[in-house]
Amino acid sequence: MKKIANYINGKLSAPASNQYIDNYNPATGSVYSLIPNSGDEDVQFAIKSAREAFDSWSSLPNAKRASWLDKIANAIESRMDELALAESIDNGKPLSLAKSVDIPRARDNFKFYATAIMHYASESHRTGDGIINYTLRKPVGVAACISPWNLPLYLFSWKIAPALAAGNTVVAKPSEITPMTAYLLSEICVEIGLPAGVLNIVHGLGATTGNAIISSNEIDLVSFTGGTSTGAHIAKIVAPKFKKMSLELGGKNPNIIFDDCDFEKALKTTVHSSFENQGQICLCGSRILVQRGIYEKFKNAFVEQVGNMRIGNPLNEDSQLGAIVSKPHFDKILSYIEIAKSEGGKILTGGIPISLADDNKDGWFIAPTIIEGLDQQCRTNQEEIFGPIVTIQPFDTIEEALELANSTEYGLAATIWTSNLSTAHHVADKIKSGIVWVNCWLLRDLRTPFGGMKNSGVGREGGWEALNFFTEPKNVCIKF
Ligand code: NAD
Repeated sequence: MKKIANYINGKLSAPASNQYIDNYNPATGSVYSLIPNSGDEDVQFAIKSAREAFDSWSSLPNAKRASWLDKIANAIESRMDELALAESIDNGKPLSLAKSVDIPRARDNFKFYATAIMHYASESHRTGDGIINYTLRKPVGVAACISPWNLPLYLFSWKIAPALAAGNTVVAKPSEITPMTAYLLSEICVEIGLPAGVLNIVHGLGATTGNAIISSNEIDLVSFTGGTSTGAHIAKIVAPKFKKMSLELGGKNPNIIFDDCDFEKALKTTVHSSFENQGQICLCGSRILVQRGIYEKFKNAFVEQVGNMRIGNPLNEDSQLGAIVSKPHFDKILSYIEIAKSEGGKILTGGIPISLADDNKDGWFIAPTIIEGLDQQCRTNQEEIFGPIVTIQPFDTIEEALELANSTEYGLAATIWTSNLSTAHHVADKIKSGIVWVNCWLLRDLRTPFGGMKNSGVGREGGWEALNFFTEPKNVCIKF
């Protein structure tokens, strides 16, 4: 069975303990590889290697660091098919999605920050005659980058690329549920000869390996994407040490559909924005709010289209939905369907696990599910489920839509469908959410700030925001 290796100090290595964790293929329910169960010794070695590499990496000219990022991007490009297949097998997502979204985006993250760092400038303020201030932007040091399982290489590289571009060295941990493409990235780093210690990838469990990384006094900042409760735990450890933190956390995103929308576009996109990646994208809409005038028409068409979605082996070209990432997550999602029923929810379509044939008979598949008849305060409408489940609710006025949309602890993303410019601007202005899409979904420009309000996180990724996060400003005032 394939054993994944850590990547520490430029070398692929086994964990010091030689202990491994099972890695499952969610579409078959079987173990197909082993993940290092890294302990404190591995983590400390990775941090020490990153610390030792920091001086030479941070003093390289930006153009040199950019060219290393370009080399990584080119190597991802040349192994695109292999990486996409690995992502699909590890995560359960349709191969077509890994090919069209995950791996191209991972490549683009490195390409984007290779160019961004070449355009990144710091400020200068002329204070008066003979007085000038200039602000240096220095890399912070050793960055801890911790990522989740839903978009494995895409989100892993979204942190690593700006951290390295800005001159930090990195100790990174991918999710133990989807470690394979992070491992392949470490193979790429070995192949291209990335200097030892610049990037270290340590595999293992969150509560042990991850916790050892973020608890170390030797790391200088933490960039984390994952669940809100994990983020709160990390904040408790990192905040009293006054280290920089960026926390990208959970969501419960509203999708607000007004009577005057382009019906067909709103419908088609809502099917995608609800169920892409089995609903396991932090930006998926999970609460569909529809204005009363088109509620019945929209609901019926939505139920029909979702009922016809093809769930299948993720490797089949025509599968629109693949497997749920793990057995515990599969059980959690099914438990929320029971909670919704007990709260009085009516299942309009789905609501059941799906048994496929042959190799996939033990895989974890759930039918895309739409639930109606729940009030906004119930658990189903308040808590993040992070699976192929949405609720649908009618509203009458803009104010009511805003009240429903804003009445959770989260504030990550929102989608608005309307042909009225004033409605679009008004709702976008009033909604408590870090990201708003109007008449579209998941259109991403890597220069824009990315992140959430309220319990969806602290800080922003993307564009200059990430480069500002991964650098420390130092102001120099000169009188001449
Ligand atoms: P998670 O919080 O369980 O794990 C995320 C990562 O943190 C994993 O690598 C895990 O090993 C690690 N971890 C867990 N405990 C840790 C600890 N004590 N110390 C250090 N690291 C620890 O989240 P998940 O289940 O992997 O991912 C799903 C969650 O991620 C959802 O809530 C989803 O909304 C969120 N998410 C948010 C965004 C965003 O941009 N806001 C993007 C994707 C996913």
